[in-house]
Amino acid sequence: MVLRDPVGIAYAAIAIVCAFIAVVTWRRRAQDPIIAAALTLTMLGAWWWAATLAVAVASTDETVAAIALLARYPGVGSMVASFVCLGLAIARPQWVPGRGVVAALLVEPILITLAAATNPWHLLVYRGVGAAQLTGSAGWTFGPVFWLHTYYSYFGLTAGIALIAWGWWKAPPAFRAQRLILLVAVLVPFVVSAVYVNGGFGDIPDPTPLCFAVTGTMMAYAVFRQDLFTFSPVARALIVDQIGDAVVVISPGARVLDLNPAAVDLLRGMNPHAPTKLVGASAQEVFGDGLIAAIDGRETEVVVELPGGRAEFQVRASLLVDRHHRGLGSVFVARDVTEANAVTRRLGVAHAQLVRQVETIERLRVDLVELASRDPLTGLHNRRHMVEGFASMIAAAERTGEPLAVALFDVDRFKSINDDYGHLAGDAVLVGLAQLMTEKVPAGALVARWGGEEFFVALPGADAATGLAFADDLRRRCELNVIVVEGRMIRCTLSGGVAAYPVSGATMDELFHAVDVSMYEAKNAGRNLVRLHSGRARSTGVDAEVL
Ligand code: GH3
Ligand code: MG
Ligand code: MG
Repeated sequence: MVLRDPVGIAYAAIAIVCAFIAVVTWRRRAQDPIIAAALTLTMLGAWWWAATLAVAVASTDETVAAIALLARYPGVGSMVASFVCLGLAIARPQWVPGRGVVAALLVEPILITLAAATNPWHLLVYRGVGAAQLTGSAGWTFGPVFWLHTYYSYFGLTAGIALIAWGWWKAPPAFRAQRLILLVAVLVPFVVSAVYVNGGFGDIPDPTPLCFAVTGTMMAYAVFRQDLFTFSPVARALIVDQIGDAVVVISPGARVLDLNPAAVDLLRGMNPHAPTKLVGASAQEVFGDGLIAAIDGRETEVVVELPGGRAEFQVRASLLVDRHHRGLGSVFVARDVTEANAVTRRLGVAHAQLVRQVETIERLRVDLVELASRDPLTGLHNRRHMVEGFASMIAAAERTGEPLAVALFDVDRFKSINDDYGHLAGDAVLVGLAQLMTEKVPAGALVARWGGEEFFVALPGADAATGLAFADDLRRRCELNVIVVEGRMIRCTLSGGVAAYPVSGATMDELFHAVDVSMYEAKNAGRNLVRLHSGRARSTGVDAEVL
């Protein structure tokens, strides 16, 4: 047998192409095993078919040619069965062939093969003069089983095409154009075969295997070169179409490849002049200049004007690459952060308010503590504060060994001031005296209103002599001082007692007692006097300077 006939050469070439596609597809099966297996088997069927046709056409031996014609049926039958599987796999990416489906699809190829291979059953496939003895193909006519097989095959092909059409119809926008190419590719052999079987090509040999070779090449290219099925449309429908984030896929050529419903809403709201068909439109047209500049590949926040008001979006961009690291485009995910930002801002304002309130409360607390430690009339520290402060002064003196002097003053004959000038004037005198006491007080000293018209002064670091000098200076200044109340000049004097730690006492009570005793000694000695306590022995007191 020599391939001299150009038709035989053409069939042989088609067989080689189909075999080549089958091998290539099988080697790439890791990427999508089910589709690869279905396409490989379809191409093997086409290869067998073309190869038997090549032998039938080219053979000079009539018997060989007749056997070759009958031998094509396993190829045609398995091709149809595999094509149905291919349609299922394309239409439903999660589909896995079950035993029942495979067994059902194998029934017809096995039956037609058996019928063609056995005598006299093959007469049901072909009838004619040479058919019975396989002496030549001249004068053969198609038998009833041939027509059954043909109708069954068209039914299978139609089912496969319908499945691919359904896959195209349900495909997300990004995949629709490519699925359409697949659909057109599979329609070509279908139409051509139908025309051929109905005698539309006259005496031209069956061109269907050629069409299948072209279709197989296109499908293999679409499946494996364009990574069509890598991204599961089911996962996409479940995730991308459902989420509230706007997802837009942009091609390396800056065209919109795909976008989810949230993105459509966002873009329509943002840009009323956006093209009617968003998929395939230029990103520039769809987004407008401002947004394109903002989403230049880094995570960023953009503010857009929507019919419902201003909205803030956080935009993240990621590059899409195939396994060869070639850029397929970019995915932009825009999340509406208006509400989240507003909450953050409100929280910020609330936080600042809280900080201010805490500061105010702290200021008020300090003021209150201060107020509680003061005498409301004179503004001097009150007795409670004085007791606390004095206790720590004694403790410090104990620790450091530094001296500590105290003095107690009582206004002489204050009752008569009240009587003569009135109680309010008496108050004014107390205020004037408080000023006098704090005027020349040394640093660290404590001046307090002990009660009524009595005042207490503690002088840390001062010994008995220093304390006595301070007290007598105060007595003298008071004597010289004139307090003017409502135009009337009021004078008064002080009697004071002085005591020193630890000579006069080592505890607070002892020192209060000592200073009290000394002050009464001054009173008893005639007033306007200062007396220094003589020590623990409780002397009758020592005269200070007496004016
Ligand atoms: P002396 O101390 O010299 O013995 O005579 P005195 O008149 O000052 O007598 P005493 O110290 O016992 O009297 C204190 C008076 O001070 C009694 C009270 O009416 C008056 N006094 C006490 N607190 C106040 C005050 O806040 N305002 C006024 N106006 N008078 C007060
Ligand atoms: Mg008095
Ligand atoms: Mg008194």
